[in-house]
Amino acid sequence: MIKDIATPIRTRAILEKYKFSFKKSLGQNFLIDLNILSRIVDAAGIDDSIGAIEIGPGIGALTEQLAKRADKVVAFEIDQRLLPVLADTLSPYDNVKVIHSDVLKADVKQVINEEFKDEQEIMVVANLPYYVTTPILMKLLEEKLPIKRIVVMIQKEVAERIAARPGSKEYGSLSIAAQYYAHAETVFTVPKTVFVPQPNVDSAVLRLTIRDVPPVEVDDEMFFFQVIRASFAQRRKTIFNNLTHHFGKDRKETIELALQTADVDPKRRGETLSIEEFARLSNEITRSFKG
Ligand code: SAM
Repeated sequence: MIKDIATPIRTRAILEKYKFSFKKSLGQNFLIDLNILSRIVDAAGIDDSIGAIEIGPGIGALTEQLAKRADKVVAFEIDQRLLPVLADTLSPYDNVKVIHSDVLKADVKQVINEEFKDEQEIMVVANLPYYVTTPILMKLLEEKLPIKRIVVMIQKEVAERIAARPGSKEYGSLSIAAQYYAHAETVFTVPKTVFVPQPNVDSAVLRLTIRDVPPVEVDDEMFFFQVIRASFAQRRKTIFNNLTHHFGKDRKETIELALQTADVDPKRRGETLSIEEFARLSNEITRSFKG
């Protein structure tokens, strides 16, 4: 019987067969631990009704485990050298499709429409390339794709920032952006030893459960995110100073009034504000700028 791909012996054999050299610039750190893979698939809640999207299948370690449990797997891989490898390693599975594409440039919505059945629940499951973790996650969230959950292995530090609560030092614009679209939680942390080659940083599995509706009502989403980014521009400054620096000194009084109406003390720092407070504040500023 052929061993699973994600074992040190089989992975080494595949890499040797194809004389594969890792590209650090593409964030290539492959998983060689079946236990971790099965915990990732469990965390996503994959069964044979589910359509799974994977980003960066590598040599197919996670793809194989998804193929065994999901109805269908569609994987985006940027590195052309991996296509013949995947055609070989995934040949026992007839429910996998590999798309040669940079996921950041791909029309994921169209792929979902074409590849999955209507009404099928779709999950994104991936061991993400760490150099593009945030752009990939923000793309998946901002495009409001018909997906239920995103379960990804990412840098531990980024996972902590995404799942952070107000008042902690990790809390920032990334936490709020992600939590506006999804419920975020770190599921478990992962040692470096489960990858080849080993990355320099620790990793964690992050689960984002997509919300049907945002947790707060925002009049203008773009402006809401602009207010948040401005509020964190200089973390040590007060929210009032950050906002007047961003919107201009001539708007000082308008901002002061908006803070007062939103019931936010101007001396507070951005990192202490909840998503509800940011929504109230940005709605007040939008109204006063328009008025
Ligand atoms: N899933 C495999 C595993 O767990 O062993 C490989 C994970 S490795 C961390 C990241 C993978 O993403 C690599 O195969 C890399 O070539 C691919 N990749 C990097 N940037 C990408 C992009 N923009 N779009 C699609 N795939 C990408």
